[in-house]
Amino acid sequence: MKVLVIGAGGREHAICWALRKSARVNELVCAPGNAGIETIAKCLPVKQDDVADMLRVTDAVQPDVVVIGPEVPLAAGIVDALHERGIRVFGPTQAAAQLESSKAFTKDFLQRHNIPTARYVTVHTLEEAQTALPEFSLPVVLKADGLAAGKGVIIATTSAEADAAVQELLPMNGSLVIEEFLTGDELSVFALCDGTHATIIAAAQDHKRIGEGDTGPNTGGMGAYSTDLLLPDDLKTWVLENVAQPTVDGMKLEGYPFRGILFIGLMMTPNGPKVLEFNTRWGDPETEAILLRLETDFLDLVDASIDGTADKLDIRLKPGAAISVILASAGYPASAEKGVVIHGLDVPPPASVEVFHAGTARNEAGEVVTAGGRVLAIAAEAENLRRAAGKAYDAVSAISFKGMQMRRDIGWRALNRE
Ligand code: ATP
Repeated sequence: MKVLVIGAGGREHAICWALRKSARVNELVCAPGNAGIETIAKCLPVKQDDVADMLRVTDAVQPDVVVIGPEVPLAAGIVDALHERGIRVFGPTQAAAQLESSKAFTKDFLQRHNIPTARYVTVHTLEEAQTALPEFSLPVVLKADGLAAGKGVIIATTSAEADAAVQELLPMNGSLVIEEFLTGDELSVFALCDGTHATIIAAAQDHKRIGEGDTGPNTGGMGAYSTDLLLPDDLKTWVLENVAQPTVDGMKLEGYPFRGILFIGLMMTPNGPKVLEFNTRWGDPETEAILLRLETDFLDLVDASIDGTADKLDIRLKPGAAISVILASAGYPASAEKGVVIHGLDVPPPASVEVFHAGTARNEAGEVVTAGGRVLAIAAEAENLRRAAGKAYDAVSAISFKGMQMRRDIGWRALNRE
């Protein structure tokens, strides 16, 4: 079977790695890919926000199935365009992807279907914002309505900050969600959906801040871990019955059947779990950890989602834990130093460790160099988180590049508990 993967990050490297393990995959193409992906798949250039360009690549490749990695091609409508051509594709349509691409749509949807979430108001003008803000105590959360690559949320601790946030975020998409501030630990739960059924795959915890101890500015994610300890059976059942399945049912009822991966961002508040956000694809860097634990053939997940059999699929994960540690460029998250040579990639990693490439490229001399903010994800799997972290950080010590940034405390909350 010939599979085409769209995307260029650590998540797509992990997806390609998982697909390579499938006995049914004999040809793997990734567009655009990166310097790591090109060692296991044929890479072709593509513009990920341009449906016509992605169709050009699909026409050239003639794949049996297409797997979409990031949110941008989903929001652009690539799945709808591939459906029109009769091509099998793993991911939601543009309308279903609104669960990620529009915060206002999602908040209204959650409210319509009685799915627990923070109290909110959607506003469209400065006047509406000024009327709504006094109804919320401080801190208050302000969210631009649209994809903003993690830069569309501001938590304001004073009225002046809230006013400034309205001025900054409202023009981005013409509407803004003002939301009650919730407290608790955050948890990401991943569900496989086929338009009718939802099946929980695994839970993970991300580390968004650049600095150790969760300090400093937000990033795309500096590392993640996944263990069954994060998702006891009663919580797994609760998320399925109160969030994942009602979401799939509601989307079907409203005429937008949801197929693909539903990433459920939860806040574990003292009053129970509440939905912070949905993403409509695998998370990055959570995927690099979760796929190391996945024993089920990745292509079986893809087929079940497309064929409407997600409820019948036995999704098996290795017991224990997995972790991913991001190595980032100098200047990240404000900027990214590109073209810096990465050392230590020629030595193969030990068993149960994988080096997934995120922002990497090859220079004219053929050396692997930095090409983005997040450069590599070092992932490891073991019988518990402490051992997985030990393996990942040992592997990290073999790799270096000028200005390399990383957090040495990925998984710290769970490690304290272990
Ligand atoms: P992401 O980069 O995670 O996709 P996003 O731009 O889609 O981010 P959200 O996930 O909605 O935005 O919010 C980003 C972060 O802001 C959350 O991970 C959480 O830490 C914080 N946050 C969001 N909503 C709330 C809330 N109601 N109360 C407290 N913190 C919140």
